[in-house]
Amino acid sequence: MNPISPRNAWHETHEHRHRRVRAGLRDRHGGGRAARPGAPQAAWGRIAPGGRTVLHRHDEAESFVILSGQGEVETDTGRVPVSQGDILAFEPFERHVLENTGKDVLVFADLYWRTPAEAARAAATAAAPHAASGRPVFVFSTPPTPNGDLHIGHLSGPYLGADVYTRFQKLNGVEAYHLTGSDDFQSYVVGRARDEGRAPQDVAAHYAGEIRATLALMDIHLDQFTITQAASGYVEGAQAFFGRATAHDSVAMADLPALFDGDTGAYLYEVDVSGGCPGCGAPCGGNICEECGAPNICADMRAPVSRLSHAAPVARPAARWAIDLGAAAASVRGHQADTRVPPRIRALTEAVLHTGPRIPVTHPADWGIRPDGTGDQVIWVWPEMAYGFLYGIEALGQRAGRAWDKAAPSDDWKIVHFFGYDNSFYHAILYPALYAAANPEWTPDIDYHVNEFYLLDGLKFSTSRRHAIWGKEILSPETVDAVRLFLSLTRPEVERTNFSRAAFEAFRDGVLVEGWQGWLNGLGAIVSEEFGGTGPDAGTWSIEHRAYLAELERQRVAVTAALGADGFSLNRAVRLLCDLVEGARHFSTASAHLRGLAGERDAWRTAVALQLAAARLLACCAAPVAPRFGNALSGALGLGEVTAWPGAPELIAPGTGIALAGATFFGPGRPSAPALSPLNRTRRERITP
Ligand SMILES: [Zn+2]
Repeated sequence: MNPISPRNAWHETHEHRHRRVRAGLRDRHGGGRAARPGAPQAAWGRIAPGGRTVLHRHDEAESFVILSGQGEVETDTGRVPVSQGDILAFEPFERHVLENTGKDVLVFADLYWRTPAEAARAAATAAAPHAASGRPVFVFSTPPTPNGDLHIGHLSGPYLGADVYTRFQKLNGVEAYHLTGSDDFQSYVVGRARDEGRAPQDVAAHYAGEIRATLALMDIHLDQFTITQAASGYVEGAQAFFGRATAHDSVAMADLPALFDGDTGAYLYEVDVSGGCPGCGAPCGGNICEECGAPNICADMRAPVSRLSHAAPVARPAARWAIDLGAAAASVRGHQADTRVPPRIRALTEAVLHTGPRIPVTHPADWGIRPDGTGDQVIWVWPEMAYGFLYGIEALGQRAGRAWDKAAPSDDWKIVHFFGYDNSFYHAILYPALYAAANPEWTPDIDYHVNEFYLLDGLKFSTSRRHAIWGKEILSPETVDAVRLFLSLTRPEVERTNFSRAAFEAFRDGVLVEGWQGWLNGLGAIVSEEFGGTGPDAGTWSIEHRAYLAELERQRVAVTAALGADGFSLNRAVRLLCDLVEGARHFSTASAHLRGLAGERDAWRTAVALQLAAARLLACCAAPVAPRFGNALSGALGLGEVTAWPGAPELIAPGTGIALAGATFFGPGRPSAPALSPLNRTRRERITP
């Protein structure tokens, strides 16, 4: 917002993003038709005492003149009083809500106009890394269930996504952390324990160790790994969180339909029951449908089947704590209104809130946290996870010397969640509803990043059918960069995609070894043969040289947007990295005609210096996605580890030793094809994809 009126000092000294009031204005005054570029439109608005405008945002620039009354503009950084005579100017995409806090009607005039260049500039600014606001950014990959190890379907999703996201933010100077943990109290751990004849706590501890080892092999850096059955104070904090939630109107004890085993009488949920999804009809497990993402309460599944006996399950009411999502709908919608929510989750939210179901948040079970330490019910592990995120932040803060309190989450926290689509209901609907109940004073600011199913040769990953590639089978120091780059390129960001070993090997050998490494080795050979192994200074710049520098800058800007908070897409980022190398090879081939010409010596060394600048840009831009490669390439260019995101393409200092000739970045050779897993166990096909 830019100041026009000197009347309010805040307007003169602060630039913020503001919540937006357009919808209210257009509703009242019929100004809804699109403005012609540059042609100002005008309207005026009235807000009754106690009323407020609808949160909105748009591409037009806009000015308000407060004609009468008094109120407050609510912005990301707080609330500011406004009154008669104030003039406010908003840039494209700025947000605000205007509230009438006085006794009289607040009247304001509104002028707005569309300028495409301004809108494009503002959109690009918004896509930059998290602004240097000083806010900590907590990036969560969904805590894996410790009932098995991680395969590349899991790894390609939340874990790779959150790792790259966090690395990019850190390179941009943002205080960002990657947090996850072992979701020990899952019913699937009990199922696994039954199959293995072990205790659930042993199974959870064992697979938590395996999962951590696999994440390390994948170069997934973690700042916090919470082991829920062992973490200090975890249980007591969960009980306190749950106590606050159940004190709220939206959570109450309720007799809701439930399923019981027809033979043993055991309560059935999650792992122990399957059937047809009441929403889409697809085969699904208890409580959630992997296909459409809708929750169920088991008793509403079509033709349910118990895993405990062959007898048909029996439905009857059972008393459990339940959350009323109808009562919580306004909180959930309010939360989602102004954060990053992928369209498929918005569609799921509308479908779920439309029916406003009551969802049990406790279940009769032996494995889990009892709400008050007694009774036969446990806090369902998914609501528990809502608290687990806050616990992780506090535990991280204790090590970092920060007073982050799990019982008093802060509006200053920026939270980012990465998860598979089938967890969308929990993360984006249930958790905001629970937070509104347990911590109503908190306005959570959470971005959501989702992935769809990754297929292996056209089918879902499945351990039981021996249809999986486990992380440990394919990951080694020699292969990890190629795996990360290939999974980034092909991971299912908006629809199901397919992994095949042949496609991976073709990418590794053709694109990475022959393309990337081949270009870098050839460049190294030129530097060795003609410049004594050190980078030449640029000499004369031709028109094509200038054009290529401009191309590098465009590519830098594009990768920056692809890894940034708003437009985050690893598919796009790796396509852009491939494009960067392709452009460098094109430039290299064209420039080669200058080689050895005495009269073009100055132009030739410019061409070589520019290629070294392209290699430097590649090292920096690839570092979040393929950190070993980025750092190794940076080292070969005499630059050391990549510690900051580049602000521009930059030439290598003349005389720097270059060690690109013969360098191997993608393994000593073709890694032997790992055998498929010999394990033949029943696991969830995707643990928490
Ligand atoms: Zn479904």
